[in-house]
Amino acid sequence: MKDVYISKAVIKRLPRYHRFLGELAKEGVERISSNDLAEMMNVTASQIRQDLNHFGGFGQQGYGYNVRYLHEEIGNLLGLNKEHKMVIIGAGNLARAITNYYGFKEIGFLIVALFDVNEELIGSEIKGIPVRPLSELSDFAKKEEIDLAILTVPKDAANAAAEEVVTAGIHYIWNFAPTELIVDRKKVYVENVHLVDSLLELTFEMTTRPIKESK
Ligand code: ATP
Repeated sequence: MKDVYISKAVIKRLPRYHRFLGELAKEGVERISSNDLAEMMNVTASQIRQDLNHFGGFGQQGYGYNVRYLHEEIGNLLGLNKEHKMVIIGAGNLARAITNYYGFKEIGFLIVALFDVNEELIGSEIKGIPVRPLSELSDFAKKEEIDLAILTVPKDAANAAAEEVVTAGIHYIWNFAPTELIVDRKKVYVENVHLVDSLLELTFEMTTRPIKESK
């Protein structure tokens, strides 16, 4: 793909396009106009055209979008055309929930090991996946060509754990620890999932714009 700047806002919408197009493809829909897609997705047609133009458009005037092709192309942009091996750092409750979630495997994201510093957990398994000592991360990551680390350690341990990840040569962190990681952004890209922040966005709505049922 051309080396163009694409805003985070556009990138954030791509998984949603991918999901809707996947459902259309499953229903056997071959093509769709930006207007129809816009209506389904509750966005404007011009936003869809603008967003998809960043990637060469994929559409044709008067024809609309080829659903299967667009689905595949967006999937390629999202890295769904290959398998990704991931590790989890911090084998606590959140790690357990993530490991037990089937959705990742279905789209090619494989959790191949968990790492922890707690001797009591090391050697155990979660859904058949071993919990290994953190000291083995570097060797393991290099041998297994790990793409991505999921960070589910407590806040106070997050930066030290991120440091280990970077030392292991892993360049992508999906960070669930409720803190901002201080890392060298040239060496590692961090995507944060701050669950409490997300909940607070909801409670902001709740307190400032409460839904009042009309009688
Ligand atoms: P519980 O406290 O019941 O284990 P939890 O998910 O709330 O569940 P956390 O305190 O969030 O636990 O810790 C998650 C996991 O991170 C724990 O298993 C802990 O041993 C592990 N952990 C803590 N520090 C590190 C570290 N530096 N590197 C790797 N794992 C760590």
